[in-house]
Amino acid sequence: MHVRRKLVVGNWKMNGSLAQLAELAPIAAATRAASGVDVAICPPFTLIAPAVARSGGIPIGGQDCHHESAGAHTGNVSAGMLKEVGARLVVVGHSERRAEQGESDEIVRRKAEAALALGLQTIVCIGESETERAEGRALDCCSAQLGASIPELSGEAELVIAYEPIWAIGTGRVASCDDVREVHALIRRLLVERFGDAGRRVRILYGGSVRGDNAAELFAVDDVDGALVGGASLTAEGLVPIIEAA
Ligand code: PGA
Repeated sequence: MHVRRKLVVGNWKMNGSLAQLAELAPIAAATRAASGVDVAICPPFTLIAPAVARSGGIPIGGQDCHHESAGAHTGNVSAGMLKEVGARLVVVGHSERRAEQGESDEIVRRKAEAALALGLQTIVCIGESETERAEGRALDCCSAQLGASIPELSGEAELVIAYEPIWAIGTGRVASCDDVREVHALIRRLLVERFGDAGRRVRILYGGSVRGDNAAELFAVDDVDGALVGGASLTAEGLVPIIEAA
């Protein structure tokens, strides 16, 4: 039996400012008070270093990294660059990047490899579109994305999976507990088939319109080990009730 601590990760997306970093202190205080939950915040790249300085001890991470360590990749940031300024984790393969930057499963896997090799906790996102769910292909889609987006496990770094149905992101339409249970059970089965016992230690987060008023019921679902939170993570007022529910 593996006891997996809950993990709540805030994804600020292209939001936030130096002034907004004032939210970190009350988030860190709530994390200490809750004790049994890990909390991390992923602000935009430009805010990572100042966020580390004002984090109150909670891990700060990036929302993406390049799969190579350096070179002619204008506008990109490597996993090593994130690490150098104090990032301890990174999100890769978010559906917004898959859609806006055309990132394939193969690229996502290489990004995850680069981040894990440097010891960053690495959150790989997967999730079906509204059409895929309507056509009854949600499970096939998640299974194919998982298989192709995650690297082999090696070293000390921690792999985390985030299941984020695209239609639930930023829409206020949270997935039903039954749908979440079904997909998380599938992910767990695939992880154990591929990695054996190590697959039981991988935390699986749900993401998509998680709020203070729906977090507790989601966290009660088997194999929901936490949440990747967008909109509600921008303020302590939004995130603290989710931390308290974990
Ligand atoms: P949301 O975003 O919580 O605003 O729906 C979640 C995410 O995209 O990670």
